Amino acid sequence: MYQDPYQRRYRKLRVSLTAACNYACTYCVPDGKKLLKAKHEMSVEQFIQAVSLIVESAGIEQLRITGGEPLLSNKLEAFLVGLKPLNIPELCLTTNGQFLEQKLPALLDAGVSRINVSLDTLDPVRFKEICRGGDLNVVLRGIDRAIESGVKLKINMVPLKQHNADQVVPMLEYCLERGIELRYIELMKMGHLAQGDGFLQEFWSMKSLLDQISERYDYAPTQAPVDSTAVRFQIPGKGEFGVIANESKPFCRSCSRLRLSSAGFIYGCLSNTRRHYIADLLSLERDKGLASMHQILTNAMKDKQDLNFTGETTVMKMIGG
Ligand code: SF4
Repeated sequence: MYQDPYQRRYRKLRVSLTAACNYACTYCVPDGKKLLKAKHEMSVEQFIQAVSLIVESAGIEQLRITGGEPLLSNKLEAFLVGLKPLNIPELCLTTNGQFLEQKLPALLDAGVSRINVSLDTLDPVRFKEICRGGDLNVVLRGIDRAIESGVKLKINMVPLKQHNADQVVPMLEYCLERGIELRYIELMKMGHLAQGDGFLQEFWSMKSLLDQISERYDYAPTQAPVDSTAVRFQIPGKGEFGVIANESKPFCRSCSRLRLSSAGFIYGCLSNTRRHYIADLLSLERDKGLASMHQILTNAMKDKQDLNFTGETTVMKMIGG
């Protein structure tokens, strides 16, 4: 088992099934261009081989399928079928929700038990301004179907000072009314936001959003798993919400995440340019493949930050956040 001096070990694998996305969110893509088809992505067979070597090598307990937008990928169904024999304890997905209503049955059949939907506003005009793609009503319908299905659902919202900070409380009310946990994600210095003043122009801190919420609700801190990225709060009689406070309350010391990109790179840390190409070891015999993967995972653990995320120029959708 890989364990570093901070007793960090891998537990969660995030797989970016494709870098393609039907949105061009302002905080992810600087120029508004959508990447509808990404080049040089692994085949389904390569993805499954890679995941199976990582799971056996690192003892992964949770796999989260991300993107770009994973539901956009024509490999999704075959990938889900290929994962079944690996018996990964927990299968999760993060999506922008545009294809959720359509793909939900296949996701549930494959044993996906947790779904996070990225939604930054309930205002259709603001939605278009931020996402630069998609249709808000389609996402809301997908959320309703997911609620009806009983799958564990969370909403991820990125509060932006100049775009949707006034939506912090309306989004919370929308989620509380539906018994969904809302996760506010502090903006990250990723991609084009790693340089220049774009980040500071839009950063809306945990303190700012808690101040807004305290005008409407009483809330108190509540429990969260050791390696959770979120600070969690409870509103008595109403429900819970969380804040992934990357800037205000870094969580690197308990980081248990490993990332696999669609181009065949392993990332030990989101905030490190170092990456490890694995596609060429996928054709090795099992023992040799496991030995090479062991070396790579050992090195990748060394890429993690000591204390906090410092920023990285890689575009988020290339590694699935
Ligand atoms: S910045 Fe790196 S070490 Fe810190 S939480 Fe993110 S992935 Fe983990």
